[in-house]
Amino acid sequence: MAMLSFETISFSETEEELHVTLLRLFKTTIPKEEVEHIAHFTLPDSHTIQFDLNQEKAEIKFSYLLEKYFSSLSNKLTGNKVTYIHRNSGIPLLGNVAFGIVYRNSSIIEIKPVTSCNLDCVYCSISEGLSSTKNDFVVEKEYLVEELQKLIDFADEPVEIHVGVQGEPFLYADMESLLADLQAMENVHTISIDTNGTLLNKEMIDRLATITKLQLNLSLDALDEETAKKIAGTKTYNLKHVLEVIAYATEKINKVIVAPVLTEGWNNEEMEKIIVWIKSLPKQPILGIQNFLRYKTGRNPAKEIAWDQFYEQLEELEKKHTIKLRLQKEDFNIRKTKELSKPFQEGDVITATIKCRDRFPNSVIAAAKERNISVPGCEFVKEKKIKVKIVRDKHNIFVGKLV
Ligand code: SF4
Repeated sequence: MAMLSFETISFSETEEELHVTLLRLFKTTIPKEEVEHIAHFTLPDSHTIQFDLNQEKAEIKFSYLLEKYFSSLSNKLTGNKVTYIHRNSGIPLLGNVAFGIVYRNSSIIEIKPVTSCNLDCVYCSISEGLSSTKNDFVVEKEYLVEELQKLIDFADEPVEIHVGVQGEPFLYADMESLLADLQAMENVHTISIDTNGTLLNKEMIDRLATITKLQLNLSLDALDEETAKKIAGTKTYNLKHVLEVIAYATEKINKVIVAPVLTEGWNNEEMEKIIVWIKSLPKQPILGIQNFLRYKTGRNPAKEIAWDQFYEQLEELEKKHTIKLRLQKEDFNIRKTKELSKPFQEGDVITATIKCRDRFPNSVIAAAKERNISVPGCEFVKEKKIKVKIVRDKHNIFVGKLV
């Protein structure tokens, strides 16, 4: 009799199918007859599958089946295709801005364990959210932590880890466990995380309060409920809940920054209301109003406000409400660190192996020399060798063109 238990995977069954959920957000379905082909099985609890077979054989056969069906993982929120990046996936974590690790030779290292968002903000610079049709990624926590530790050892000085995902980080079911691992890393002095706050609650915040290195950057774009829903792009946005989260988090967590995005024609009048509300809190978070910027990849619902005009507006509000709104570079404490060498440079022609789909249709991720390379205009054929010319290499983020 074999018992296979999984922390990050859960099971449920229908007459014909075994439903497998990975990290709460991602799902796949295995026909029961294929599972029965291994041996007769039962589900003693939602995280365990039991086979009438010896342990070793069951483990090998079932992991083979999981691997097969994880290639058709989908996102429960959007139905989009998902790639699970784990230690044995052969996909390096350096090289892409959407997942893994981004090291820009500075004292802020970005990590991206997941893509996907439960909102659909009008100003989203990467067009992420409920209406997204892009492919998603989810990274095994242990793999991410191991690779990050190697990079921190390489940098060899205290660094900030910034959890800046393309989406909402608390959709990653392993997020609290990841934060605890980061907290335990010696050369990490700060862990900053950008979140829309919708998935937090008091109990979670109490647990997050034990992560003493944590800095929570929370979105808040309006105090008027209708405006907030419009900007969030979904009627399900619960402003009251987010306000409670901000107020409670500010009391419990060492550093909280509230970061509204001033978007011309959408929330100009809301900035003042947000300032007044922030000032009314028993403990005030830092307020960092941001200027909406147009991006090639963004939804771009408005024109940009010129920087001098934006700073003038902030200055007026600062004077009127005696509050600091203009954050300086020093507030972020960014330093240059040891330069990570690039295994290939712009202009090089290299051979790489296709590993998975990239974010956009008809684009793939190929791997070579412990880096991944985005290759647009390339059909996905797993493990196919391709020749690519490197057209971007900045900060070890690589884009290649098929040759
Ligand atoms: S919360 Fe962030 S990632 Fe999600 S849609 Fe809004 S801006 Fe984009």
